[in-house]
Amino acid sequence: CGIVGYIGQNDTKEILLNGLEKLEYRGYDSAGIAMLNEHGLNLFKVKGRIATLKENVDQDVHATMGIGHTRWATHGEPSESNAHPHKSTSERFTLVHNGVIENYQDLKREYLEGINFVSETDTEVIVQLIEKFYDKHQDTAEAFRQVMGLLKGSYAIALIDQEDQDTLYVAKNKSPLLVGLGDGFNVVASDAMATLKVTDQYLEIYDQEIVLVSRNFVEVQKLDGAVVERKPYTAQIDA
Ligand code: GLU
Repeated sequence: CGIVGYIGQNDTKEILLNGLEKLEYRGYDSAGIAMLNEHGLNLFKVKGRIATLKENVDQDVHATMGIGHTRWATHGEPSESNAHPHKSTSERFTLVHNGVIENYQDLKREYLEGINFVSETDTEVIVQLIEKFYDKHQDTAEAFRQVMGLLKGSYAIALIDQEDQDTLYVAKNKSPLLVGLGDGFNVVASDAMATLKVTDQYLEIYDQEIVLVSRNFVEVQKLDGAVVERKPYTAQIDA
């Protein structure tokens, strides 16, 4: 299981699918990608292998930002509807998540009564919460930070807001996550193996931090919004 994300100038399909192949060793039962372009969000997910996902991705879709996931099911059986990425009800928000949210049932009861869930995952609670908090604050970064503050358990998360073609919202707690830095692009991944082909410059992300990732800029923040300065390091492994 693992996540990958790309925002840049080039077509994201190859980078996401290659990245997911490199994460295969972590084990998975389903996989999916979401790509945002000027026509909207393009979502592809399958139960089974990355090879099957590849066959199902429409080669005519071109986008310069996207997120991908390999799932090792913890809540809900391996199936297409439980595969990530997951969308919020309005379809504005889409996310991938690696890890386990221990208090998802409490959060569902407290904040999401009456919401129609389409999967059995703990993950869908996160994306529905982001929509709920966005409705309240009208600010995606603020909603994202507040929701991360409510989650108990482990997560590496990457989120797309359909109304924002310039940002991937990323967060980490007790699940591995790195941000890779490029020239005019940036990537995120559970493991540098997934993105070593495109960069060897990485930012380590610590627990309870979020990252706003755009094409030419990366900002690490604490959950209270305080900006963190962090120097990149050079990954030494062979791709
Ligand atoms: N808990 C989530 C699920 O069951 C994510 C599992 C994973 O890390 O792949 O869908």
